[in-house]
Amino acid sequence: MTPRNLTILGATGTIGVNTLDVVARHPDKFQVIALTGQNQIEKLAEQCRRFRPRYAVVLEADRGGALQALLAGTQTEVLVGMAALEFVSALPEVDSVMAAIVGAAGLRPALAAARAGKRVLLANKETLVMAGRFFMEAVRLHGATLLPIDSEHNAIFQSLPAGYDGDLARHGVRRILLTASGGPFRTRAVETLKDVTPEQAVAHPNWVMGKKISVDSASMMNKGLEVIEAHWLFNARPQQIEVVIHPQSIVHSMVEYLDGSVLAQLSNPDMRTPIAHSLAYPERVEAGVNWLDLAKIGQLTFEAPDFARFPCLKLAYQTLEVGGAAPAILNAANEVAVAAFLDRRIPYLGIAASLEAMLGRLSGLPAESLEDLMAADATARREAEVLIAHAEA
Ligand code: NDP
Ligand code: MG
Repeated sequence: MTPRNLTILGATGTIGVNTLDVVARHPDKFQVIALTGQNQIEKLAEQCRRFRPRYAVVLEADRGGALQALLAGTQTEVLVGMAALEFVSALPEVDSVMAAIVGAAGLRPALAAARAGKRVLLANKETLVMAGRFFMEAVRLHGATLLPIDSEHNAIFQSLPAGYDGDLARHGVRRILLTASGGPFRTRAVETLKDVTPEQAVAHPNWVMGKKISVDSASMMNKGLEVIEAHWLFNARPQQIEVVIHPQSIVHSMVEYLDGSVLAQLSNPDMRTPIAHSLAYPERVEAGVNWLDLAKIGQLTFEAPDFARFPCLKLAYQTLEVGGAAPAILNAANEVAVAAFLDRRIPYLGIAASLEAMLGRLSGLPAESLEDLMAADATARREAEVLIAHAEA
């Protein structure tokens, strides 16, 4: 494999750190050209000293100043702002961009990578939820290669025929089985969900992840976002995507074919597996993960999701049926509601309630262009904030 040059957006986050772990195992195969972060400046500086990128980027000027001071005397140039994030995503010398910023802030740099025809290693699912149509169009138009990092979508990608072109029927695919762990509240008495604390919600049984996605896993909003993600990545109708709860998180998703065959990808729940898969694709490299010991795991179990326990999952399916701006509104309102929940401003059940209210009010917003969707995102954020402030008063 000729060495690959990487930009890692969100290098200081969970996915970013796991990516650098895999990269460090293969210095002959991967070279870091740019790293980006946001609040964890010390950590970003440390990563820069170790991986010696040409650029380090943060969004805000004051942080840029602090980073510059920490990196004085090194060969890394500090850049600041959204345009700089887009710039390092499109550099001619970069061939792969790991898009691992959390939330809607990740959209523009991911889009810049797609428009520059890069190999886009997409962790930021919010990009597809917000603007799936336009992002997929950019990928096609500019000949970018899209490799999913989200473990489920990576599993589906691996279980589809090589060279899958977006036509499930032609490849004999009947449906996609998207597995979900069910999170920390799978068996908790439904009447006690009103008392859930942020600490309980972020304590995921199988995965160590950022706070926002951990709360999304507890509410199964994460699976809802992943249904939308799968819809765009694989051109699957909502009816062709079925969620199956699998508490052990060993089977990361499956593809069912017309002849009754079901292909799955299994591994220990460690994001370095899908990250290494996408970094090296179509080759394979060692990822540092423990080998799967099925005899030790003993049992793999499956159950159907309970929509009454997980209303966010149902709302996500509904937004796909409604189409237009609805998924973007769901995503934006969810980001605001999750942040408010983590700040103890609203109760856990307030997340689903606020999403439902926002979708009821705003689903008809226009969605003809990327600008429309960004505007819908901004409106949903504003209105969700107002709703939450009212609830507090
Ligand atoms: P983290 O919160 O751990 O990391 C987020 C990264 O984005 C950090 O580097 C952070 O910088 C940076 N960041 C945050 N806000 C901004 C902003 N406004 N502008 C620029 N950069 C910003 O998240 P994860 O790594 O867990 O998740 C990243 C993405 O990957 C998410 O979209 C998530 O849904 C997806 N994903 C994650 C999985 C996981 O296992 N963690 C699994 C599947 C998908 P800093 O920390 O320096 O502030
Ligand atoms: Mg996932």
